[in-house]
Amino acid sequence: MRFAAFIAGVCVLALPRAAFSQQNFDTVQVRSQKVAEGVYMLTGAGGNIGLGVGDDAAFVVDDQYAPLTPKILAAIAQLTNKPVKFVVNTHWHGDHAGGNEHMGQAGALLVAQDNVRRRLSTQQVLAFFKDTVPPSPAGALPVITFSDTITFHLNGDDVQAFHVAHAHTDGDAFIVWRKADVVHAGDVFVTYGFPFIDLDSGGSIDGMIAGCDVLLTLGDENVKIIPGHGPVSDRAAVREYRAMLMTIRDRVSQQKNAGRTLAQTQATHPTSQFDAKWGGGFIKPDQFVELVYRSLPERKR
Ligand SMILES: [Zn+2]
Repeated sequence: MRFAAFIAGVCVLALPRAAFSQQNFDTVQVRSQKVAEGVYMLTGAGGNIGLGVGDDAAFVVDDQYAPLTPKILAAIAQLTNKPVKFVVNTHWHGDHAGGNEHMGQAGALLVAQDNVRRRLSTQQVLAFFKDTVPPSPAGALPVITFSDTITFHLNGDDVQAFHVAHAHTDGDAFIVWRKADVVHAGDVFVTYGFPFIDLDSGGSIDGMIAGCDVLLTLGDENVKIIPGHGPVSDRAAVREYRAMLMTIRDRVSQQKNAGRTLAQTQATHPTSQFDAKWGGGFIKPDQFVELVYRSLPERKR
């Protein structure tokens, strides 16, 4: 999403694009932190950036918002003197792919799952946020797309991107540094609260849960996991997040199958045991119940 407001670079809030365009990025600082040998996470405003460095090239996962590109490139230049050769998008949302055009102009090849290019090429309506996103300029579109998986062999590592079907969107990818044992999970896994599921872009609660199952198979037990938003995380956190998703999904599903309306389901507070930990993000408990309810199949009569 075009997360517009941010506090200390981590708190996000979704606002219509009009508000976003008035956002002042001048005060945003792009910071880097080492995740593993040769892999860094960069934070500024928007989704976490993954950066691989080494003898060959800088390899970047997600690029936040367009106005931040000079700061992002400056932060990368602090860590490597190699050019950015590839930028992989974890999905099409503007807080992850907004810098694509500038990164392309700076010489990077843009790479993403097929559906990312398809959605960036055409107008997208995000009913949940009452937002309409116009098609991106040609220079912002991925020039290399993949359906299921693609592997980059550089910097002494094998870096693999996998498609995760119908999770946060229909074009999500996990990116795995095999040797460094790091995964960038995009917005299928976030730590700021209940996750946004973009139903208008083909997302679903069942896909989010299935995505967590895949995520838990990647890397070793001590794998470092870069979430779409929030601090560097691990498998234990993904397991807890998955259990939360599953519990709420089952409760909402039971009620929907019993013929209850969305309002009736919300009134039973199916998220209540998780609200203290997860309810403080930009997706409120009732909104999360709505996303789950709407993404579940209609009751069979
Ligand atoms: Zn997103």
